[in-house]
Amino acid sequence: MTETRKPIISGNWKMHHNHFEAIQTVQKLHYRLENDDFDLVDVSVHPPFTDIRSVQTVIEADRMKIELGAQNCFFEEKGPFTGEVSPTMLAKLDVKLVIIGHSERRQFFGDTDEWVNKKLKAVLGNGMIPILCCGETLEEREAGQAESKVDSQIRSGLDGLIPDHVSDMVIAYEPIWAIGTGKTATSGDAQMMCAKVRSVVADVYGNDVAQSVRIQYGGSVKPGNIVELMNQADIDGALVGGASLDADEFAAIVQFNQH
Ligand code: PEP
Repeated sequence: MTETRKPIISGNWKMHHNHFEAIQTVQKLHYRLENDDFDLVDVSVHPPFTDIRSVQTVIEADRMKIELGAQNCFFEEKGPFTGEVSPTMLAKLDVKLVIIGHSERRQFFGDTDEWVNKKLKAVLGNGMIPILCCGETLEEREAGQAESKVDSQIRSGLDGLIPDHVSDMVIAYEPIWAIGTGKTATSGDAQMMCAKVRSVVADVYGNDVAQSVRIQYGGSVKPGNIVELMNQADIDGALVGGASLDADEFAAIVQFNQH
């Protein structure tokens, strides 16, 4: 983390919390966090689609500084796409950030690099910020292919984007073997891979863009490992799954500066 990039910590709730539980969790998180925390860190929550309207309402009513996020969207604005949600619909609900290309989407729902690229463009075209996910499997890591996998995911994901858009976006490096497993990459490995992501952005868009894009680490982030991760030069935040479901645990991660 450098002084010039504001850290961003995002909670990916995946398919957890119905809309009542979502309201309770975001309210509890709001009470646990201080106004000053938001001067130091951007905080977003990414509930399931069915919760978004409810969470939007409480965020607005209580003037919370927590930002509303989504976990995915389709790239078309409207049409015969049964079961999909469009970026326009999310923007209308004041969604600010959308996770795109999460490994679970790629693995279970067939999101390809080409779709990820189209989704990024659609999110940006609707004035929202994408969190582009990348990361290698255990087999790829053991075969020495971690860097080349991430390199190609970033190049194809960002294909055709304008530099201003890339500067403002967030990229999450998430080794797939560390997601939901309790295994975290060592802070050294996480730093090395996040530096690799930044170097690919620099190669395509130049150093200014690379220095401004924010890079999160994701994979079993907890209150006990966040400080060491955030001390790394190229880690600007975290994408948190399991530990974001509990407001106390997530607040402790957000308040990593106070540990
Ligand atoms: C994630 O959902 O992107 C994630 C990193 O999950 P967890 O923190 O549970 O490993």
